[in-house]
Amino acid sequence: MEPMTAHSARALRSQGALAVLRHVHAHPSAKRADAARTLGLSSGSAAEIASRLKASRLVDEEASALTGGRGRPSPALVPHRDGPLVCVVDISHERWRVACVELGGRVVTQEAGGHSGTPDVLGTLAHQVSALHARYGHRLRAVSACVAGTVSATTVVQAAGMGWRDVDLGPLRPPGLPLLVGNDASLAGLAEARRGAGAGARVVLHLTVEVGVGGILVVDGRPVDGATGAGGEFGHMPFGDPSLHCPCGARGCWDLEVDGRAMARALGRPAPRDPRTAAEQVITAAASDPAARSAAGAAAHALGRGIGALANALDPGVVTLSGLATDLAATAPTALENGYTAALMRYRRAAPPPILPSTLGRQGPLTGAADAAFDTLLTEEGLEAWART
Ligand SMILES: [Zn+2]
Repeated sequence: MEPMTAHSARALRSQGALAVLRHVHAHPSAKRADAARTLGLSSGSAAEIASRLKASRLVDEEASALTGGRGRPSPALVPHRDGPLVCVVDISHERWRVACVELGGRVVTQEAGGHSGTPDVLGTLAHQVSALHARYGHRLRAVSACVAGTVSATTVVQAAGMGWRDVDLGPLRPPGLPLLVGNDASLAGLAEARRGAGAGARVVLHLTVEVGVGGILVVDGRPVDGATGAGGEFGHMPFGDPSLHCPCGARGCWDLEVDGRAMARALGRPAPRDPRTAAEQVITAAASDPAARSAAGAAAHALGRGIGALANALDPGVVTLSGLATDLAATAPTALENGYTAALMRYRRAAPPPILPSTLGRQGPLTGAADAAFDTLLTEEGLEAWART
């Protein structure tokens, strides 16, 4: 029994360290006393754990500003300046970003550029990642890519905006480091649920409109992303006109009702080559042009209807919106509300889940990709691997 007891005690101690570390990641600069209170630790245990995390180059302590109260103020727990980093590669339709992010979510370094849309951009990105790996060495723990497309494991199955099909992001993986790949809308939703407009709600449905609709259901801070990571493709539910073919291969997708393609159809215009820009132009014109206002209103109504259907099916506490969905909600709030209410089951209408605009905006996908990577590091195994460096 002796070794077992010793082992259990050690595990408990390290669990306390893991809990404090996760708290610092979720609430960087939290006071040590607040972390102790939240986690149910005595102040002595919290101080002891903080000093072990400091010795392990994970967390540091900074003197807090004087509070005016009696005694010394509790120090703030901050990410260690030699602590672990994750590299985030953000690939959107015409732009890329490569960033290093520390515990707590602060971006330490960032490079950005444009690309033509072909998978050739992976060569540039792999070069950026390997330069960061050379610079930061063992501090770099994982590479996490977010892509504006459908993702299965580390493969981009389809990215309609870039014309990608079955593009493996394996070349971004430096030797010995894990590579995670996620959909940008899903990762934005993860961040929004944990750190943004959905923070505090247990079940958050996040939806974004760029070209089509993407999103994710987040439950207890965990994305419900399916068996292969491709879950959350809500835009390919048949909430639209069944005579319309979607590039995904299905018919009648919701995607086709809410973005620039829908607004161009409503205005009798040809299908736009750049649906994102076309939608922005219609939404801007809606302020003065009745035809544009009507087209934006129809898209907002279709967005609201789909949100109502998803609220019936998934029962979120809060719905968060980003991208063009926020602009549609601001431009045509009544149309969105009418579509939403009409689709909701009657019993839900008295107190429907609130629909809130994103607070993270364009930082959402990058923040979510960093969080997904830190989730794999803030584990017993991740800490053991860090201790070996
Ligand atoms: Zn589709």
